[in-house]
Amino acid sequence: MAVMAHFNKLHFSTFLLTRAQPPPSLSRHFNATLCSKLYRLPTLIRPQSVLSTAEPIPVSQFVEPPPPAETQAPIPLDKLFIPPETEVSLDDPTTRVLKGSNIVLSKYARDAQVVQAEFVKSSVKTEDCPSDGSPEFALVGRSNVGKSSLLNSLVKRKKLALTSKKPGKTQCINHFRINESWFLVDLPGYGYAAAPQECRTDWAKFTKDYFLNRSTLVSVFLLIDASIPAKKIDLEYASWLGQNQIPMTLVFTKCDKRKKKKNGGKHPEENVNDFQELIRGYFQTTPPWIMTSSVTNQGRDEILLHMAQLRNYWLKH
Ligand code: GDP
Repeated sequence: MAVMAHFNKLHFSTFLLTRAQPPPSLSRHFNATLCSKLYRLPTLIRPQSVLSTAEPIPVSQFVEPPPPAETQAPIPLDKLFIPPETEVSLDDPTTRVLKGSNIVLSKYARDAQVVQAEFVKSSVKTEDCPSDGSPEFALVGRSNVGKSSLLNSLVKRKKLALTSKKPGKTQCINHFRINESWFLVDLPGYGYAAAPQECRTDWAKFTKDYFLNRSTLVSVFLLIDASIPAKKIDLEYASWLGQNQIPMTLVFTKCDKRKKKKNGGKHPEENVNDFQELIRGYFQTTPPWIMTSSVTNQGRDEILLHMAQLRNYWLKH
């Protein structure tokens, strides 16, 4: 029960460690039975239809199987993200994994649609951020990772995130209020090569203070460019979040860029796997991850559902 005390900050690694384990007789057959069931699940999901509802969609509703190229690689149980109060049962046909992710859908995934979005304010310090107690999600990533594009895609507005790119606001904590009830927060991009070293360090200090002290932060969404191999600065960022037990979701961007570059370039899926392997040591259990593209809108609905389930759980506890 000690873990319950931390629920307001959603320490997911703890949830995963304390979830019900399958009975030994079943776990022996895990690879053969459960995995094969879970592996098939993502291909059955139509994210558009589950958005804003927690009700599982009966399998019979899915008429056409997706083309083989889109079939998601199998994810073993220990690499799934299982939200709190969610049990993955061996025989439960209602278990759903969000497409292009390792995230199991929970009963809290409701009210996911964005119907209204507005810029609220830019803050230079954590203490200056809005103080109405609404839950928030922070988007952060290397400059040029596609953060503004993703933010605009999430809120279905072409230029909302431009606010964060205006001179004077690029180094601020920018709050956007969604549906008058929660916030998306745009944090300064890091690793901008042209910035002086001194300035880069300041950004790090500034965002770290926010991560450590913002009590209404439900989860950081760390954006990683899946079209290129892992960068040291991204690995450092992810490991810092892991070591400091800041709840984190990895959002892989630009997953539409499927062309292999010369000199051993890899597909997004390979870069996604490599990145996770490289950070594994910093997390007790696998953090949630999700593949996205602002060009095709891949992952948009899935991110919103994931945010909804984290948010609704956070609000309840
Ligand atoms: P930011 O600096 O992180 O805010 O990045 P932007 O959103 O401004 O995007 C940087 C560049 O990447 C722009 O040229 C975008 O058009 C491009 N970009 C962003 N998202 C995607 C994506 O999902 N797919 C592709 N192919 N390009 C993208």
